[in-house]
Amino acid sequence: MTAAVTAHPADPHERLRSVVRDFARTWIAPHVTRLEQDQTVEHDLPRLIAAQGWIGATIDPAYGGMGAGHEAKTVIVEEISRVSAAMGAAAQASQLGLAKIIHFGTVEQQREWLPRIADGTVLPTIAVTEPGSGGHVLGMQATGRRKGRDYVLTGRKVFVGNSAIGDVHGVVVRTGKGSKGLTAFLVESGRTGLTVSPHRPALGLHGFSFGELVLDECRVPAANMIGEPGDGLAVAYSSSTLYGRPNLTAVALGLHQAIYDTTTEFARSRTRYGKPLAKLPTIRAKLGELRSHLLTARTLAYHAVRLLDAGRPCDDDLINAKHVTTELLQDSARTAMNIWAAAGLLTEHPVQRYVRDALHMFPPAGTGDIQLLRLGETASGVTHPQWSARFPGTAHTHPDVRSAPAA
Ligand SMILES: Cc1cc2nc3c(=O)[nH]c(=O)nc-3n(C[C@H](O)[C@H](O)[C@H](O)COP(=O)(O)OP(=O)(O)OC[C@H]3O[C@@H](n4cnc5c(N)ncnc54)[C@H](O)[C@@H]3O)c2cc1C
Repeated sequence: MTAAVTAHPADPHERLRSVVRDFARTWIAPHVTRLEQDQTVEHDLPRLIAAQGWIGATIDPAYGGMGAGHEAKTVIVEEISRVSAAMGAAAQASQLGLAKIIHFGTVEQQREWLPRIADGTVLPTIAVTEPGSGGHVLGMQATGRRKGRDYVLTGRKVFVGNSAIGDVHGVVVRTGKGSKGLTAFLVESGRTGLTVSPHRPALGLHGFSFGELVLDECRVPAANMIGEPGDGLAVAYSSSTLYGRPNLTAVALGLHQAIYDTTTEFARSRTRYGKPLAKLPTIRAKLGELRSHLLTARTLAYHAVRLLDAGRPCDDDLINAKHVTTELLQDSARTAMNIWAAAGLLTEHPVQRYVRDALHMFPPAGTGDIQLLRLGETASGVTHPQWSARFPGTAHTHPDVRSAPAA
């Protein structure tokens, strides 16, 4: 056993952590080799994870959710990602997909979708990115045209987390000009005019689909609109800040822990010069660096979500945690590969998988450049809405529902 890096002196989610850890070892670990070899979309494991109720970590108990908050969500995603970052990515993508319904959904929409997301029967997604617009969200070109009581959506969305397995997609399209010209709609997976493009295998995260949705004159009722016309940018940014960033931070943390665990074990058990590799001064310094990076990442990750759960304005903490934990993870991945040397290149060892998976953490929920831009804006006195102030705490459902049982 490697020396543990504890989550917190008094981990309030110790029991949850242990349950998810056991689940991941028992139900996910046996499939990792298959996921790596097949490089196809995994349908069953994300549904099995969802059936545990874990997508509903932040859903109000009035809707059947755990009501446990963002810290609990981080624990869940971290522990799954420690075994399979691909399945951690799938879990977090569904949790990300429900944010807009919690933040902007009407009572009717919340009643319709949240109980089914909470019990794992419906997997939501959010589709913002397009071939011509990633970080430049306002550059999107997909359109929504009003036609009677419906909207007709046309365009392409790419890199959509859980694109191939999602049951209801939250699609942001252009309905007008400028920053107030984006609007979000729920598009059920069976809708005429919506197709999921064939899976394109990527460098890592094998089993996770983050692919393309094509909308070709896809008609949805106006009642499927999330928020008001023009709220699309707010839907995208609030989802990304309050769910996307901490969720990716959690995947990065699970991967980081896995790198630490396997590499310390390797350095202790491998013999060089008649003694454990870990006794070489250069290797020991590298192990110290791994531990330092992991401790820092863990502190940042949990500090940010605790602020969020406490209802404190913390957008910059969430942004910074995503940025720094991703950077530290990538540093650690490279350091670990150096410790493993040639052995690390063999696919029979997991460290090469961790390195490939780690490279997937940079783009989503804002690349490192975007995170630094946001932090730089704060430092320069540019004011933005604080999403964590607008949607404080964990339960953002309508007050009349919070006290009443779900319909
Ligand atoms: C694993 C994964 C999951 C994802 N999940 C989703 C999802 O669920 N839904 C969804 O809609 N999208 C998702 N994405 C897409 C993700 O949001 C985009 O990859 C991200 O927004 C960046 O867009 P891009 O890759 O097109 O890069 P671009 O935005 O084109 O950036 C290219 C380069 O330019 C830099 N750059 C861009 N803008 C600026 C700027 N203003 N100043 C300085 N530098 C800049 C970037 O840092 C980068 O280095 C996912 C991506 C991945 C890898």
